[in-house]
Amino acid sequence: MTQRPLLQMAAPRRGKPPRHFADLTREERQEAVRELGQPAFRAKQMAHHYYSHLTATAEDMTDLPAGARDGLVEALFPPLLSKVTSLEADGGATKKTLWSLHDNVKVESVLMKYPGRATLCVTSQAGCGMACPFCATGQMGLTRNLSAAEIIEQVRMAALAARDGDLGGDPVRLSNVVFMGMGEPLANYKAVMATVRALTTPEPEGFGLSARHVTVSTVGLVPAIDKLAKEGIPVTLALSLHAPDDELRNELVPINTRWSVDEALDAARRYFDATGRRVSIEYALIRDMNDHAHRADLLGEKLNARGEGWVHVNPIPLNPTPGSIWTASDPAVEREFVNRLRSHGIPTTIRDTRGSDIDGACGQLAIKEA
Ligand code: SAH
Repeated sequence: MTQRPLLQMAAPRRGKPPRHFADLTREERQEAVRELGQPAFRAKQMAHHYYSHLTATAEDMTDLPAGARDGLVEALFPPLLSKVTSLEADGGATKKTLWSLHDNVKVESVLMKYPGRATLCVTSQAGCGMACPFCATGQMGLTRNLSAAEIIEQVRMAALAARDGDLGGDPVRLSNVVFMGMGEPLANYKAVMATVRALTTPEPEGFGLSARHVTVSTVGLVPAIDKLAKEGIPVTLALSLHAPDDELRNELVPINTRWSVDEALDAARRYFDATGRRVSIEYALIRDMNDHAHRADLLGEKLNARGEGWVHVNPIPLNPTPGSIWTASDPAVEREFVNRLRSHGIPTTIRDTRGSDIDGACGQLAIKEA
């Protein structure tokens, strides 16, 4: 049974967030600045403040004329995210933040610090329409898509926190962004692509992240994977497979009834061919559900049938969600699953489950207090 989302009922008015600088292309920014009576080059100055200095505050933009500064900032940088709470785990190295959007919709993002770098897990949709039964967000249904600027603001806030040493210890640079928070990124394609462009465009017009350090994770929306492959920005693609056979995957990832395991794997292989980027296969190990040795073998065979060196597998022990009957696989079963895959020659690494004690781990992002 899918629960009706409380969040959806609580949201007073859902709708388009106000227009923000980060939603606009370079030309549109110049146009917007001109409409406000300023020369077009102000757009570049503002981009520099936003993407390099990570600020959207008028007082910081001292190279803009004093008389125009407030007007420009008010018109182009409306506040989109307000912080509701944040929770820490792993001795402060993991931080989950709950944000409220303009229409009171709540979303979460998780920032994780590693030696010399930091990774942000971003939300692309409020809720999710994919209804995977083991995923907390999947139980909520879809409230709405986030705008590009609502996703980009999550990134800016995190980059600021990392730079200012909010994660304890030395400041770090936000180096990696993964679309593994709430939502199905490829179901919000336009805003996600605009975000990917903002992430990978060099400073000062973007955050200047390397495309390989940006991961788009999907249930396997085949036409959107093919579209992504043609964008010319070789981000890392993660395919949430969770089962190598249609019978079980139909249950775990319901969109499988539309695009089967083979179709999703073929699209993943085409993505590798187009980008040269090795694809990650995500596989949440669920006790007695999908963790059988014969399934590891079948997965290994299906991946090898599509060639060598194009893929690796990231098993992750299931993070049990409240009310679910499912739980993580036994460590011994997990080891056997990994060994089997490796014996097929498939590079396999267990994924890290940071932040599980603050419900900040993979697939756990869903708002309780809504
Ligand atoms: N919709 C995208 C992004 C979602 S979350 C996708 O499905 O890929 C990112 C990853 O967390 C996905 O691989 C998802 O399957 C996984 N996940 C969801 N719920 C989980 C859980 N309870 N335990 C472990 N991983 C989970």
